[in-house]
Amino acid sequence: MFNKKVYSKKYTLDHKEDKRNYDKNYYSENKGEISRKHKIYQMENKDKISKITSRWARKNPEKVKAQSLARRIHIPKGMNCQSCNNNLGKHKHHPNYSYPFNIIFLCFKCHKKIHRS
Ligand SMILES: [Zn+2]
Ligand SMILES: [Zn+2]
Repeated sequence: MFNKKVYSKKYTLDHKEDKRNYDKNYYSENKGEISRKHKIYQMENKDKISKITSRWARKNPEKVKAQSLARRIHIPKGMNCQSCNNNLGKHKHHPNYSYPFNIIFLCFKCHKKIHRS
């Protein structure tokens, strides 16, 4: 006996899987393309980018200093995000750039949230 309800449910599930695979493929195919384009853009606009970067560095000397000092600080293994405590705190964040060694460890989500607010 043919059960229409079950069939359509199965179809949706199969279809969902297809879509997920399609998205995944689409993303990974375009990831290469995007990073390639990004590299080309950077090569072609080297001067422009370095000008922007050095202008930013001149305007934010304390941030440059804080960032280079923070690079020497290693994130403790298994460190949890100090904001949500749910994910690993893989990102270093400076609550105040005047204190370059005063950094907190955040997950990607919380770090993004902090810079958005
Ligand atoms: Zn977090
Ligand atoms: Zn930050």
